[in-house]
Amino acid sequence: MRGSDREVNVVSASEPHVAHNYSPLPVTAASAEGAWITDVDGRRYLDCLGAYSAVNFGHRHPRIVAAALDQIGRVTLTSRAFRSAGLEPFCAALATLCGKDMVLPMNTGAEAVESAIKVARKWGYDVKGVADGAATVIVAGGNFHGRTISIVSFSDDPEARTGFGPFTPGFIQVPYGDADAVAAAIDQNTVAVLLEPIQGEAGIIVPPEDYLPRVRDLCTSQNVLMIADEIQSGLGRTGTTFACAHWNVEPDVYTLGKALGGGILPVSAVVADADVLGVLHPGEHGSTFGGNPLAAAVGHTVVDMLADGTWQHRAAELGAHLHARLGELVGNGVVAVRGLGLWAGIDVEPSLGSGKDVCLRLAERGVLAKDTHGSTLRLAPPLVITREEIDWAVDQLAEAVRSSS
Ligand SMILES: *Cc1c(COP(=O)(O)O)cnc(C)c1O
Repeated sequence: MRGSDREVNVVSASEPHVAHNYSPLPVTAASAEGAWITDVDGRRYLDCLGAYSAVNFGHRHPRIVAAALDQIGRVTLTSRAFRSAGLEPFCAALATLCGKDMVLPMNTGAEAVESAIKVARKWGYDVKGVADGAATVIVAGGNFHGRTISIVSFSDDPEARTGFGPFTPGFIQVPYGDADAVAAAIDQNTVAVLLEPIQGEAGIIVPPEDYLPRVRDLCTSQNVLMIADEIQSGLGRTGTTFACAHWNVEPDVYTLGKALGGGILPVSAVVADADVLGVLHPGEHGSTFGGNPLAAAVGHTVVDMLADGTWQHRAAELGAHLHARLGELVGNGVVAVRGLGLWAGIDVEPSLGSGKDVCLRLAERGVLAKDTHGSTLRLAPPLVITREEIDWAVDQLAEAVRSSS
């Protein structure tokens, strides 16, 4: 019934009751503040992953914690069956930050992507006039948009897909960074092009200069929605509010998540103009927790913190320093470094071990990072990290890729 030992994953010795869908580094967090995590033995680690960009403002940022505690003292959950005072102000602020009309609040990133796909399909039928059931969405090779059935249906990562079929139809995958392939794939049934402006899980892949502007032009001329998944790249990480801004591109739809929750709770959103999000009517889509008062209070605080550009500026300046320092390692255990702002994908010499091996060595040296796949690791430290801490982390990485044996 349960298959062989090879098919069924063995339990983890240290966490026998936790489903073994992750393989965490052997560091057990007990507390955290700013860019630092303290483990159960009192050892301190510089967090250079930042929960995959969900902790952009550092652990327990005082302003976000204060907003959350204040809201916890009043009302935390009502469901959308009733109004709550903070929802409209949060959505107004987030819409303004995005230069859009409307916000559809959800919880996790995957839910935001699923919701954006539903909205695009509905827009295709109601507005564009696509024949019922015929809508297609163009996606990119190497994408990562979450873990639900429909989302893994258009992944090309065998680990994410194998064993989870049957899959949701209606997606066409073309190579990332190839605008000609997007042009060739668009037909009268195309409702959206969904892409990450910089691919995160794939290894912090920055596309060719003309990619996003050309996709933008194609979507405009062919009446197709451009959906930018900025769940990991957005909200300051790359030195701008949105990664798309590096190419002066404005998508029709943003999906946001991760940092929108201020490192406290899951908050995600689909943000677009009213002619797009307006296709949803009462009862057609929803979420018990989406837009709850606590999420709105935290999300609104995050949006307010991003309003004057200070965090973005900090990510750009410190990011330039990070990339300059990482560049010095190329040829010294490091093959290539990619990224923008405080976001870096680092390919280490395969002979030095996997990305995971290097992350283990880094953890021993007090730096927490995460492999993406193969010999690539990623850095996405909280934006509160200092220049000195960046220097120290890069020094540790230099040692970790030197002391391979
Ligand atoms: C993390 C991520 C998601 C999924 O977010 P979850 O909150 O884990 O569901 C979707 N898209 C991108 C680009 C991501 O990085």
